[in-house]
Amino acid sequence: MVKVFLDAGHGGRDPGALGSGLKEKDINLSVALRVGELLTNKGIEVAHSRTDDRFVDLADRAAMANGFGAHLFLSIHCNGFSNPSARGVETYCYPSNSKGQKLAKLIQDSIVSRLSMTNRGVKEANFAVLRLTYMPAALVEMGFITSKGDAYILKDKQEDLSRAIAEGILNYLQIPYTDDKPPLYRVQVGAFRIRSNAEKLVEELKVKGYDAIIVNSKGKTN
Ligand SMILES: [Zn+2]
Repeated sequence: MVKVFLDAGHGGRDPGALGSGLKEKDINLSVALRVGELLTNKGIEVAHSRTDDRFVDLADRAAMANGFGAHLFLSIHCNGFSNPSARGVETYCYPSNSKGQKLAKLIQDSIVSRLSMTNRGVKEANFAVLRLTYMPAALVEMGFITSKGDAYILKDKQEDLSRAIAEGILNYLQIPYTDDKPPLYRVQVGAFRIRSNAEKLVEELKVKGYDAIIVNSKGKTN
């Protein structure tokens, strides 16, 4: 079974970046938990560095992922900056790590295209969680909590962000991504050659409180 380790950045006494009335640690956690659900639904075994608001040391996060035997590690963060015009997504990998770079690029591209966010690109950094993990690893900065536009996405588009991240991970693992939105079920009550008969039934249904429409066999609603 494929194992993915998700690391919600910060937590507990460490709130991470602050801005727009939001705390980075809260956004990181709710996105990480949702990404975990989406991956679990695809049959992937998921472990988290934290599933509630607690402080976890950076070295412990990496040790947990190594102990779990994860095939892939993703740390989830939001950016912050003193200038509120700074915005966009960037994803980090460990320097000269080609697998980490590929993972980072797939996640970066997926978020940028799904949410139409500013693309700050894939970058290299000697972050502890990237350095100390044994498996391909990336760290995503999903946007700037200090930017009004990004903060809106971080607060109100978490489902889309989570789906984008899950899609990037699945692309890396070469597992087909399908949106698992439930299908739409339609009910048909009659089929008529003569239009007036169809109209009569629609009227009867409307009287009973049903929102009926006529659709012809060519898929047109007129
Ligand atoms: Zn952070």
